[in-house]
Amino acid sequence: MTDVTRSSLELLFAISRELTTDLDLHTVLSRVLASSSKYVGAERASVIVLNEQQEPVEGAIIVHDRLVPHTVDQLRTTLEHGLAGWVMRNREGALIQNTSLDDRWLRRPDDAAEKSGAKSAICVPIITRDRAVGVLTIVHPVPDFFNEEHLALLQAIADQAGIAIYNAQLYDSLQGAHRRYHELFEDSIDPVWITDFNGSILEANRQSERMSGHEPNSLGTHTASDMLDLPPGWLDEHRPALEGGSEISQEAQLFSHHGSPVPVEVHIRKVDTGTVPTLQWILRDLSARKALDALRDDLMAMIYHDLRSPLSNIISSLDMLNMLMPAADRGTLQPVLTIAQRSSERMQRLISTLLDIYRLEAGQVVSGRYPVDVITLVHEAVDAVQPVVETKNQVLHIDVQPEIPQVLADVDMIRRVLINLLDNATKYNSYHGEISVIARTIGDEVEFSVKDNGPGIPPVALQQIFDKFTRLQVERAPKGLGLGLAFCKLAVNAHGGRIWAESRVNEGSHFIFTLPVAPA
Ligand code: ADP
Repeated sequence: MTDVTRSSLELLFAISRELTTDLDLHTVLSRVLASSSKYVGAERASVIVLNEQQEPVEGAIIVHDRLVPHTVDQLRTTLEHGLAGWVMRNREGALIQNTSLDDRWLRRPDDAAEKSGAKSAICVPIITRDRAVGVLTIVHPVPDFFNEEHLALLQAIADQAGIAIYNAQLYDSLQGAHRRYHELFEDSIDPVWITDFNGSILEANRQSERMSGHEPNSLGTHTASDMLDLPPGWLDEHRPALEGGSEISQEAQLFSHHGSPVPVEVHIRKVDTGTVPTLQWILRDLSARKALDALRDDLMAMIYHDLRSPLSNIISSLDMLNMLMPAADRGTLQPVLTIAQRSSERMQRLISTLLDIYRLEAGQVVSGRYPVDVITLVHEAVDAVQPVVETKNQVLHIDVQPEIPQVLADVDMIRRVLINLLDNATKYNSYHGEISVIARTIGDEVEFSVKDNGPGIPPVALQQIFDKFTRLQVERAPKGLGLGLAFCKLAVNAHGGRIWAESRVNEGSHFIFTLPVAPA
């Protein structure tokens, strides 16, 4: 190896060491400039760093070994009009012996012959992984100061700088991602833990410390099973599923230094946070939901006891009044009494329906099922809607197959199903509309159907209308809660039957349900 080759290699090694010892972009840039002026012998040097869109984002300028302030706009002008722009576009270095004779040089006032500005310059692209990440320029106040060797050396510095800049940018974006993740973790409104697969807490966010009443940074000595009332061996049992990437959810109580435990829903899944496999635990506070559940239960109990029994008393008192009413007063008082009776019966049906929805949704079975006479059932249901049918001048046909067998049902509940369907058939139908109620046997079931020639239901909504609170968006829709059909579905299904709707828009609707025939 010749002395020249050896000293060049030593020089490159020294430059590489100087540039790659730091990961902070600003430090790297000032080192690049320091090396450039030191080894190439420049008075001024600048480096511009570009983003993926080739726009300047960072830079540094030194004059006589001192960093001078600049703006990104200044860097942009240099890049658009000056030698740096030419170098970037052509992706090759340029040596200018005399700036006043070269059009590629963007001349500034102090570059004039009598002043101390740039007279000779070298500019090279900084390329890394085939992408231009910047441009490095050095200038000297004396013409013909630089030669081809300087150009080659500056290109070698730029190549080393490329790697250092690339690493610094990578490090910066990693740091940013880490900061963002940490902020999300810390600021989450839910408590979050990171544990190993044995449940030992490796990290806990502020909210988890707040909720459990632990001092900041003190959860590290705990395990998930210290903090939650999980059954023994629960985590081991779910380990295979968690390792396979499934998310596990579980209701538990979080022990708290504040006093009584907090009900939480825990969502656990595997996360890749480093070399060891870890679990992320998100704990959702259920206190508010539990309080609402308790309130709903109290409300239901209140409806059941405090509304139902007085209402039954009102209904039986009205019946009594009806019986005891003197014949002479009947003409004037009967209509008033009938209104009171029908309204209170209606209210009683609504309360029973709300209660049934609550009970059937909770999975309660229908216990009081007895053989029910279909003709009586249909006539009782029709009687309940008859006043509205008459008010709207509608026509109601009853078509029950002769000698139809009895069905096995809770008669009060199924009567309310039929009344609900008939109620809808009159309510959504126009004046003078037609309604029919049909009952016939099919195999070991009785099929009930209620037909109307009203507005009908679009095909997309035929199933949805059986969901709670679903009502079709139509102009001037009659009043309703959207609970009737949900109740019908729950009630019929609880009897082992099926319910569905068929319809043609503007032609009418047809609701059908089945019930099992009562054993002989
Ligand atoms: P509600 O009648 O109180 O709104 P329902 O659960 O009984 O609640 O019915 C849900 C929706 O289904 C109604 O709002 C209405 O849009 C539609 N619907 C039910 N029955 C009929 C019918 N016979 N004709 C037209 N639309 C109906």
